[in-house]
Amino acid sequence: MSTLRFKAVEEASKRTPLEVLIPAQLPSEYYGKYVFNRIQMAKYLSKETMNIVLEAIDRGTTLHREIADHVAAGMKMWAMEMGATHYTHWFQPLTEGTAEKHDSFIDYINGPDGGIIERFSGKLLAQQEPDASSFPSGGIRNTFEARGYTAWDPSSPAFIIDDTLCIPTVFISYTGEALDYKTPLLKSLSAVDKAAVDVCNLLYPDVKKVYSYLGWEQEYFLVDRALYAARPDLSLTERTLMGHESAKNQQLEDHYFGAIPPRVASFMREVELEAYKYGIPLKTRHNEVAPNQFELAPIYGETNLAVDQNLLIMTLMHRIAAKHHFKLLLHEKPFAGVNGSGKHNNWSLGTDTGIGLFTPGRTAKENLLFVTFLVNTLMAVHKHNGLLKASIMSASNAHRLGANEAPPAIISVFLGTEITAVLDKLEHSSEDDDITVDELKQMKLGIAHIPAVLIDSTDRNRTSPFAFTGNRFEYRAVGSLANCSSAMTALNAVMAAQLIDFKKEIDAKMKKGMEKEQAIFDTLRVYIRESKPIRFNGNGYSNEWKAEAEKRGLDCETSVPVIYDRYTSEASVEMFESIGVLNEKELHARNEVKWETYTKKIQIEARVLGDLCLNHIIPVATEYQSMLLDSIYKKYAVFDRDKAGRLSKEDAVLIEEIADHISAIKTNVDDMVDARKAANRLEDAREKAVAYHDTVEIRFDVIRYHVDKLELIVDNQMWTLPKYRELLFIS
Ligand code: ADP
Ligand code: MG
Repeated sequence: MSTLRFKAVEEASKRTPLEVLIPAQLPSEYYGKYVFNRIQMAKYLSKETMNIVLEAIDRGTTLHREIADHVAAGMKMWAMEMGATHYTHWFQPLTEGTAEKHDSFIDYINGPDGGIIERFSGKLLAQQEPDASSFPSGGIRNTFEARGYTAWDPSSPAFIIDDTLCIPTVFISYTGEALDYKTPLLKSLSAVDKAAVDVCNLLYPDVKKVYSYLGWEQEYFLVDRALYAARPDLSLTERTLMGHESAKNQQLEDHYFGAIPPRVASFMREVELEAYKYGIPLKTRHNEVAPNQFELAPIYGETNLAVDQNLLIMTLMHRIAAKHHFKLLLHEKPFAGVNGSGKHNNWSLGTDTGIGLFTPGRTAKENLLFVTFLVNTLMAVHKHNGLLKASIMSASNAHRLGANEAPPAIISVFLGTEITAVLDKLEHSSEDDDITVDELKQMKLGIAHIPAVLIDSTDRNRTSPFAFTGNRFEYRAVGSLANCSSAMTALNAVMAAQLIDFKKEIDAKMKKGMEKEQAIFDTLRVYIRESKPIRFNGNGYSNEWKAEAEKRGLDCETSVPVIYDRYTSEASVEMFESIGVLNEKELHARNEVKWETYTKKIQIEARVLGDLCLNHIIPVATEYQSMLLDSIYKKYAVFDRDKAGRLSKEDAVLIEEIADHISAIKTNVDDMVDARKAANRLEDAREKAVAYHDTVEIRFDVIRYHVDKLELIVDNQMWTLPKYRELLFIS
C-alpha cells in the first residue's frame, strides 16, 4: 500500500501559514540595505572614486587598478560591517541560474606565523579564476586548460547573501570568448545604445545615451514539499511526466480571481520583504490562471540590472519557499492540462533626456521618433524572427509554446487597431500625395492623437508572443525558468543592427539632397511594407494562423534542437559580428552547449519515465489486476457457474484493459530505451539532440496516455504517486 503518498497528503493538509516578521519600518527605510548601491558608495568611497565609478557605469569607461583598489577597500568595509566574512564572484554560466565560488577575506598578515587579517584588493574585486572546467563551454575552453575567469561588472551593484559579498561578474575564457550570458548582454546593450543615440540625434541632438529597459513578470508554481518529495518525476525533472488531470482544475477560472491562499500570501510577503532589502522593487503579486500558479513583477529597470535582479529573486524564492514547506517550480510546464508559466519580458528603450522611445508623444517631433523606433522594431523582429525564437527556446519552454494557453511557437507582432491604422495611413501616403514635407513635419497623419486613444484601448491580445502594449513591447514567449539575458541579448542586438541600417539609409538619402523628415518617412514607408508579414492581430492559437504564417515565410519550425540552427545562419552570424556582440566561433560553441543541455534534459526525463513505469506503475497495476483475478476465482467458488460468470464480467473487462495498457507501456518503454541507446551512440551534439527529439521524446506522450488511463482504473489506495488533485490545491 502506498503509505508515502498518504503520509505526504496528510502532512500537507496539516500545514498552517508561517508567520512573517514584518519590520516596524516602512519598505523605503530598509530598501536596498543588502546592496552596495549609490547611497552606500557615497558613504564608503571618496567623492573622487565614486565619480569615476559612476562615469564608468554611465559611459562604459574602463576602471583603473588604483580605483578598483579604492572601491574594494570601501566595499570590504561595508560588507564586514554587514557581517560578511566571504566574497564571491557571482556569474551566469550557460546553465540555468547563477554560479559562485566563495573565498574568505582572511589572509596572513606576514607569513604563516604572523596571524591573519581580512584583506580584499582591487585585483580580487576585478578578477577571479574559478575552476571553470566543469561549466559548459561548447569546447571553447578545453578541459585540460580549464582557464576561464570572471571579471567585475561595475554596472550591477554588489550585494550580500548571508555572510557573503556577491560581486556580479562576466565569465570569459582565457582567450576572451564569452562563456556566460552576461557578456553578450552587456555588448548588445552598448550596441543598441550607440545605434539608438545616432538615430535619436537625427531629431534630438542632445540625446547622449539610450537605455534598454526590462520589466519581467515572473510566473511560478508552488507545491507542498512533502508531496513534491513523493513524486520522483517532479523531484528529478521539475515536471510531472504522468498524472491524470484533476476533475477540477482551472475550468471555473476561480483561481485567477480568487483570494491568495494564506500559506502562499505568507510566502509572498516574505519574498517581498527580502526583495526590498535587495533593492528589487516588487510591485505586483497575484494568482495566475492555473491552480497553485502565481506571479510577481517589479517596477521595470535598466536591462542588465533587471536581469540580475530576476536571477537573484529566483534564488531568493527557492530559499523562502523551502522555509514555508513549499517547493518552487519554475519549470514552464510542470503540469499537463493546466497553464504553463512564462516570464513576460516588457522591453523598451528610453533616452537620458527622458523620452520613452516606444511612448507615443505629445508633439509631432516626438511622434516621428516614436514611429521610427516602432517601425524599426517591426523590421528587426521580422528579419530575425527565427533567431528571436531560438533565443527563448528550451526543452522545457517547448512544452508551453504552442499549447493553447501560451504564445504560439511562431513569432509575430501584435500592434492593436490604433497603431495599425497609423501605419496603414503612413504606408498609403506617398511622395506624390498632397502631403508636403511641412505637413509631414507637423505629422498631419492622425498620429498626434495616439495617446488619448491608447488609454482607452483594451484590445490586448493575449495570444501574441510579441505585443505592443502602449509604451513598450511585451515579449511573452520567454520561459519562466529562463535567464532573461538570452532573449534580451537577441532583441537588443537585432534592434541595434536594424537601427544602424536605418541610419545608413537616411544618411544616403540626405546626401542626395533629400530633406531629413522626407528621408525618414520614405524609409519608414518601405519598412512598413517589408515588415508586414510579421504583423498579426488575430488569434495566434488558430490552425489558420499556422498555415498563414508559413505562407508569409515566418519561421514555423517547432523542433527545439533544429531551432538553435538559427543562431548560426549566415544572417545571424553577420548581424552579431557586425555589432561585436558574439562571433561565429562563440555562436557555434554556445549551440553545442544548448544541444548538450537539451539532450541531457530529455535523457533524464526518459530515464525517470522508464523507471517510474517499471517500478511504480506496472507493479501496482499488476497487483490490482491479480486482485481482480482473485475475486473472479472466489465468485466461482461461491456462486454457480452462470451467476459467477455474470458477476465476473466487468472484472474480466477491466483485467483485459489493464493488460492492454501494461503491454502498451512495456512496448513503448522498450522502444524508448532502444532509441535512447541508438541516440547515445551518436557523436555529434546536434545529431544527438535531434535524435533525442525525434525518436526518444516522441514516445513520452503515448506512454503517459496509458499510465494516466491506469491511474483512473487502479484502486486509489494502491496508487503510489500523489495525484494532480492532491498536488494542485493549496488551502
Ligand atoms: P500585465 O500583467 O498587465 O502585463 P504587470 O503590471 O504585471 O502587467 O507587469 C508589467 C511590467 O511591465 C512591469 O514590470 C512594469 O514595470 C513593466 N513596464 C511598464 N512600463 C514599461 C516600459 N516602458 N518599459 C519596460 N517595462 C515596462
Ligand atoms: Mg502581469
